[in-house]
Order: sequence, then structure tokens, then C-alpha cells
Amino acid sequence: MFSYRHAFHAGNHADVLKHSILIAITRHLTQKETALTVIDTHAGAGLYRLDGDYAQTSGEAAFGIAKLMNVGVDSLPEIFRHYLALIGEFNPGAAYAQSSTPKVYPGSPFVLHRLLREQDRLKLFELHPTDGKALAANIAQLNAERQIAVLREDGFGCVNQFLPPPSRRALLLCDPSYEIKTDYARVAGLLADGLKRFATGCYAIWHPIIPRPEAHELPRRLRTLSNQAGKPWLHATLTVKSGKDATGLPASGMFIVNPPHTLQGALKSALPQLVELLGQDRNAAYTLESTAH
Ligand code: SAM
Repeated sequence: MFSYRHAFHAGNHADVLKHSILIAITRHLTQKETALTVIDTHAGAGLYRLDGDYAQTSGEAAFGIAKLMNVGVDSLPEIFRHYLALIGEFNPGAAYAQSSTPKVYPGSPFVLHRLLREQDRLKLFELHPTDGKALAANIAQLNAERQIAVLREDGFGCVNQFLPPPSRRALLLCDPSYEIKTDYARVAGLLADGLKRFATGCYAIWHPIIPRPEAHELPRRLRTLSNQAGKPWLHATLTVKSGKDATGLPASGMFIVNPPHTLQGALKSALPQLVELLGQDRNAAYTLESTAH
């Protein structure tokens, strides 16, 4: 049984990085009329209360989304303006504009659903019994059965089921909890299989940066797989504090295969500001690498 619950971490620095990039990618991919299939291999519960017990216990959103809200939307780079605007849609009324933390925080399923069009499809995998049930109930309220499928199954098994999609356009988000050591190898396996079955898909993989050999090795493996397939990649990381501090996640990254051509430029101007806003000590930093360099 898994013990990870995303409700403890919703809106933290890793979510800010991941969801801002996810929004930028999805906005780009939905500019073309042709239908897009989006697969979220590790979906979580879908919606979170930042004023609820879980989020209040950890207080992680205070060091994540709240830091962006405190500086005000107008002074932020475009990628974060889009992010805050989307979160605002889940927090209607003047209270959101005046508050330092939203009450409701959408996880990746709801972020994606907001951006998709009628012709697009969303496949959501979640294996945790409680979060799978919560996700199914949250999604049921959207009355979008034709568009969204909730699969309470192993997300690593998605490739054979859904790739390639009928329209031959797909975005796959792979965002495991890495609670099990084998998740690292399974992520690499998923990308290898995905690229074999559907080499032109966009693959967005979140990973933690923690002092553990598998975590250190994963981005290298993802680069090798992308290079072997001859596909462009982009890798953005955000460190907010020293990894020596035993409490909390110090850093994370997003590895994207076949990224939109606009993403690198958007991140180049946005990541330095993210370091300033979310950095907790002098170790705060970002990296941005891609095949183009
Ligand atoms: N993607 C979500 C978001 O951005 O809002 C957060 C997902 S959370 C980091 C990872 C989720 O994966 C957890 O809810 C966990 O229960 C679930 N999970 C773990 N192993 C899984 C598996 N093999 N297949 C599907 N879900 C899994």
C-alpha cells in the first residue's frame, strides 16, 4: 500500500514548476485544430483544499504558489501569469485576488481539463485506492465521460493501451511519487516504450532531485533515450534549498521530449525569477538544458 498523498504537497515549489510547464505545453499543443490525447500516468486526487488539514499540516504551499501570489500577477513572466490565472479560475471572487493562498488547488487532471477542447481526450491513471476514488468522484462532477477516462490502474501500463492515439497527437505526463525504488527504472522504461510506439509524442516527466543514486541517474537515462531516438529534449530544474536539510524536497526537474519550440525561451526568462521567489537559501538555483546546446 502506498503512503504518498499529494494533498500534503499540493501547490509546493515542485507543483509550481511542473504545472507552469504543463500549462505552457498544453496551451501550445491546443493551438492546432487536430485532436490531442493527453495521458496523465499518475493523476492524484485531482483537486485539493489548501485550507484543509493535509495542506495545512505540511504548509508547503506557503513556500510555493503563495510566494508567486504575494508579488502580484503583473510583475511575473508570462508562463506564471498563465499559471496563476488558471488557478484563479478555481477560486472565483475577489477573495482570491486579495488572498495570499488559494483555497482550492487543481492537480494535473483539472489543470489539463481546463485547457482541453471538445475534440481532445484525457486519460487519467491513479492507483491509490483513496485518491483513485476521490479522483473518480471529482471528475464525475464535470459530466465529461466522453472526454475523460479515469483508470484506477497502473499508469506505467498506459503505453500499449493508448499509444499511438487515433489523431497521432499526444501529450504524456509522467509524475510518479517515486515512493518505490523501482519507479525510476519504470519511468525510463515507459519513455523507451513510448518512443518506440509513438516517437512524435510529447513526453513530460517530473523527477525529484534527492541524494539517491537512482534519482541522480534518471535524467541521464532520459537524455540517452531521447538522443538514441533522435528526438529533441529540454530539461529544467529548480533547487530551492540545500539537499542536506533532511526535511522536505530540496529540488525537482521536468524532462520534456519533443518540447514545443517556444518553451525554452519562455523558461529562460522565467526561471531566474522563480529562483528569486521560491529560493529558501543560498543554494537556490535553476538549470535549463536542451539538445539545442
Ligand atoms: N500528477 C498529479 C498532479 O500534478 O496533481 C500528482 C501525482 S502524485 C505526485 C503521484 C500519484 O501517483 C499519487 O497519487 C500515487 O497514489 C499515484 N501512483 C503511484 N504509483 C502509481 C502507479 N503505478 N500507477 C498509477 N498511479 C500511481
